Amino acid sequence: MTQPKTTHDIIMIGAGPAALTAAIYTTREELDTVLYEKGIVGGLAATTDWIDNYPGYKDGVQGLRLADELRGQAERFGAKIVVGEVQGLSREGDHIVVRTSDGEDQARAVLIATGSGHRKLGVPGEEAYHSRGVHYCATCDGAFYMDKRLIVVGGGNSGVQEAMFLTRFATHIDLLVRSELKASEVLQRKLETMSDKITVHTNVTVDEIVAENDVVTGARVTHRPTKKQQFIGADGVFVFIGLVPNTGFLEGSGIDCDASGLIVADANLQTSMPGVFVAGDVRSGATMQIASAVGDGATAALKIRQYLETLE
Ligand SMILES: Cc1cc2nc3c(=O)[nH]c(=O)nc-3n(C[C@H](O)[C@H](O)[C@H](O)COP(=O)(O)OP(=O)(O)OC[C@H]3O[C@@H](n4cnc5c(N)ncnc54)[C@H](O)[C@@H]3O)c2cc1C
Repeated sequence: MTQPKTTHDIIMIGAGPAALTAAIYTTREELDTVLYEKGIVGGLAATTDWIDNYPGYKDGVQGLRLADELRGQAERFGAKIVVGEVQGLSREGDHIVVRTSDGEDQARAVLIATGSGHRKLGVPGEEAYHSRGVHYCATCDGAFYMDKRLIVVGGGNSGVQEAMFLTRFATHIDLLVRSELKASEVLQRKLETMSDKITVHTNVTVDEIVAENDVVTGARVTHRPTKKQQFIGADGVFVFIGLVPNTGFLEGSGIDCDASGLIVADANLQTSMPGVFVAGDVRSGATMQIASAVGDGATAALKIRQYLETLE
């Protein structure tokens, strides 16, 4: 394992909108800032096709473009983005040690901005066909299904939004909803206009992802009121049934989380471990929007600066 050579001012865990915004603020103040990102820089925002409600873009903005702009702005002031997963952290004396997939690193303060991951169905076939028939990101994987049939699971805003997006590629989509549609009225009205391309099945659960010769061919589902089972054929299955906070790496750290696994913070966005702050979707009480994640990031950066001043 490589030994840490320097103590950074700040290590940020994640490089989504919250951390990238925080990094713009901290690096502009010449605080040495390193961000660890295990997936895509820009986080969930980068994997969202189109964002209509982020202020400053009157006609909306592509998620990937917004992510690129945030990254470019943070890097312009000197933010260092490292590809790697943070697997744990602990306070040791006057600094915090972060254990990553490549070794250890350390800083005087840490910002956790790890957001959430996609909730899984937990049915047979899901894990086996992950990324080769079962997907969680329409922007990333939708184009593989040009002129194919798809199943989309999830009746909330994300499920409906992503099903509509996938009609760019797929010939037909079966949208499977566990109870009733929960998407906003605006989205439901838009969905009604697409009934030639999207068939909505309410009150169904997915029992199994079915494959033949190692290729996904559809899903076996149960209509809950009648208990009737049915096979729905498809070349791929996209799952949008909610999110789970990315806080597993904090197990045993002593950092307080709420019953949902979201990190609890005080009014300064500081967690129960001194010097460790939290911002964005992973914070208990977050409103799970890019604009609020960005606001959290700015607040956290200013509070971290104040905290670092108390150490000098
Ligand atoms: C399908 C979908 C559509 C959406 N549409 C909109 C919309 O239209 N408007 C809107 O405002 N919001 C939308 N959102 C919500 C928005 O994407 C989030 O609120 C926002 O991205 C949260 O930013 P964040 O920085 O807190 O977390 P994230 O964007 O989740 O970023 C967290 C980052 O941390 C990384 N990470 C996690 N754990 C580790 C670790 N241990 N080590 C290193 N890196 C780690 C992740 O890989 C990720 O890149 C949508 C979300 C989804 C899923």
